[in-house]
Amino acid sequence: MRAVFLGTSAGLPTTERNVTSIVLDLTAERGKLWMFDCGEGTQHQVLRMPVKLSRLEFIFITHLHGDHAFGLPGLLSTRSFQAPGVPLHIFGPPGVARWVHTALEVSGSHLSYPLDVTEITEAGEVFSDAQFRIECAWLVHPLPCLGYRITEADGPGSLKADALHALGIPPGPLYSRLKQGESVTLPDGRVIHGADFLEPPRPGRIVTILGDTAPCNEAVHLATGADLLVHEATFAAAEAESAHAFGHSTSVGAADTARRAGARRLVLTHISARYSGDGWRQLLDEARTVWPDTELAHDGTIIEVPRRNAPIS
Ligand SMILES: [Zn+2]
Ligand SMILES: [Zn+2]
Repeated sequence: MRAVFLGTSAGLPTTERNVTSIVLDLTAERGKLWMFDCGEGTQHQVLRMPVKLSRLEFIFITHLHGDHAFGLPGLLSTRSFQAPGVPLHIFGPPGVARWVHTALEVSGSHLSYPLDVTEITEAGEVFSDAQFRIECAWLVHPLPCLGYRITEADGPGSLKADALHALGIPPGPLYSRLKQGESVTLPDGRVIHGADFLEPPRPGRIVTILGDTAPCNEAVHLATGADLLVHEATFAAAEAESAHAFGHSTSVGAADTARRAGARRLVLTHISARYSGDGWRQLLDEARTVWPDTELAHDGTIIEVPRRNAPIS
């Protein structure tokens, strides 16, 4: 599991940063990619990164400002050439279906794959299966804007193979039954309970990816205990008043949300063009005074999300 930052600019593209798009790479977990936002030019960024549109399963749109959604028609059309027949599902706020279908219809674009578009009208669960659960909540921004919380199911603990060896039980199909927690009777009559030979379950990971927002309780709620929080930091700390008035956060505001939520790691993105060159360092330094485990994403940044019983890289 890793987050791939395709675009990290706020509002408009610059020569250093394209507008917002983030891919949650779940190749190892389910052979799929999930995209969060799709600003204009995202399909160009895909060409430069280890991202295959044929693996794209879901696109989650936070809100319909152009810097988060203008890339959809082009990307959807291009995907027709790369993934015919492979379904895709878009989730987003009200209006996202009209935007997608209007753009495709008036341009005479026909997709070669089934496309579902779900407009989210209420906070709560968006999707769940045996592996992942995705929830959303409304943030504070001039347009209806969503934040998403992705929770991975806990994994089974590993089998204590050494302890089984010590009892003279050789590796084999038996081990997979014990790993499921089953009780097994050996040829010599001994009964072995799988549950006695399992390490504790491996906690699933939590990733929170927020759309544009002023600091708010919903953001904290979505990020509570997250292994990774991706948060906008459009402005530096000194601009807090105007940032909040326009539904945005500062470096310190984002870090304070991470602190209140107890998020393990914070990654800042959606950086205003005014912090070009080395200007972004100011935002990162400010945020780290509040929440030390903070990074600032650039286009092409890849952040691994390690399991909690592994050291954070
Ligand atoms: Zn934006
Ligand atoms: Zn916006």
